[in-house]
Amino acid sequence: MSTSTRAHTQLPAFLDGRAKRLLIGGRWEEAAAGQTFTSIDPSTGVVIAELAAADAADADRAVTAARAALSGPWRTFSPRDRQALLWAFAEKVQEHFDELRLLEALDMGAPLGRRRPGSKAWEAEVLRYYAGWATKIHGETLPNSIPGSVFSYTVREPVGVVAAIVPWNRPVANAVWKIAPVLATGCTLVLKPAEEASLAALRLGELLGEIGIPDGVVNIVTGAGESIGAALTVHPEVDKIAFTGSTAVGREIIRSSADTLKRVSVELGGKSPDVVFADADLSKAIPGAGMGVFSNSGQTCCAGTRIFVERPVYDEFVDGLSDFARSLAVGNSLDPKTKIGPLVSRRQLDRVCDYLAVGPAEGVRTTAGGSRIDSGELAAGYFVEPTVFADVSDQMRVAREEIFGPVACVLPFDTLDEVALRANDSEYGLAGGIWTRDIGTGHKLAGMLRTGTVWVNTMLLFDPAVPFGGYKMSGYGREMGPHSLDEYLEVKSVWINTD
Ligand code: NAD
Repeated sequence: MSTSTRAHTQLPAFLDGRAKRLLIGGRWEEAAAGQTFTSIDPSTGVVIAELAAADAADADRAVTAARAALSGPWRTFSPRDRQALLWAFAEKVQEHFDELRLLEALDMGAPLGRRRPGSKAWEAEVLRYYAGWATKIHGETLPNSIPGSVFSYTVREPVGVVAAIVPWNRPVANAVWKIAPVLATGCTLVLKPAEEASLAALRLGELLGEIGIPDGVVNIVTGAGESIGAALTVHPEVDKIAFTGSTAVGREIIRSSADTLKRVSVELGGKSPDVVFADADLSKAIPGAGMGVFSNSGQTCCAGTRIFVERPVYDEFVDGLSDFARSLAVGNSLDPKTKIGPLVSRRQLDRVCDYLAVGPAEGVRTTAGGSRIDSGELAAGYFVEPTVFADVSDQMRVAREEIFGPVACVLPFDTLDEVALRANDSEYGLAGGIWTRDIGTGHKLAGMLRTGTVWVNTMLLFDPAVPFGGYKMSGYGREMGPHSLDEYLEVKSVWINTD
């Protein structure tokens, strides 16, 4: 805690120096094996907390608690009770939002200035959206053709125990996106946040305790993916896995959960295209596409990292985007002026730096950034410059592989049909962007992109009512919106012979 910025910041009481424990069955407990690991502030490289490193024994305890909770007081919670609980949780999240933002900034490096003090918590809106759903989950009366008086209807029941395994890139949102549908549908949860940034999830666990959630409905276990994460994916008492993370781990989880035939939804990686037509308003497209890739230091699954630009405006766009990249203030996540914080970890820094070397070796033209920041105040942190690679071609590794850092690849194109083919020439299909003044062009290309989301004349917009998820190797299942509820519900058919 040595930087000047830190001296001016009130640290949350949550970071009181005591090791953080696991939330199991309503109690905060040490890991069974007594192991711990540390969390590091990526702006400074300083250790900020010690956390319990859970393993298979803890997975078993947490899953048992979640299973028991399904037949405990939680079972008597009416839809309206669950609605009220979600609403109360939303109020708590709003009330403690500044503290949660601070934890995100310290643990993961999300710039504090991204959301102003006292600002509306988007995550609270997600909880309120699902609060609305709790009273609207219903079955149907369905016609059948059985002779006689046989009546049939469906009910939708909670799928049971959900194990949610999430990444580090938006700590509060990643946890809330799983907790909200679990509570709305009446499931129970074992949440495993990423080892790089678990503090916000643990604080959310404390806040859930303050609103009277029954013991065991939400359990939170921290630790390594290969240990506690893997143990959850093979546990016979887990009914569903809700995974968000890399495609490589998603694949592994699908395989390891196959023996117990779990329901699985996977929200995976991306390499999203962002297409700029010559008729676009470049004064909007340049910063829009720029923040579409640089925000959160490029650590966004749906970042528009492959920017295709129509040839007549290609040079102007590359110059504009490069100026924009250079104008972004890179700094300590606690500095309110910071637009681009650090990468989350040393490992992520090394990975992105590798790509900063791969690009030029493949023949790209670096028109902005291109280096780690390894001198001055930021030297101890995990910072890289917002980078623009121009003259990228489709087969280069930097155009095909997910970098997950602030690196924009710019590629020229000539026609709509050509760019549709090239934009779709990716194993991923998470999202796509389009910039044009011609609404016909926007609609046409939106229909041609094989991605779960398409943004036209904007990027990275989210709303709890609008589904989000991937095509192809970006996964299956949807979060947000009405469709997400299906992921957490079973359909039961009931037949009644009334004769
Ligand atoms: P990751 O796949 O390495 O880790 C994600 C989570 O899985 C972590 O909690 C980790 O501990 C756990 N894990 C790792 N190995 C495991 C195993 N063998 N069994 C069970 N769990 C295991 O991903 P990451 O580096 O934390 O996050 C970055 C990735 O997440 C990127 O690919 C990004 O695109 C993706 N992501 C996708 C979305 C989306 O909605 N599609 C959102 C955010 C991030």
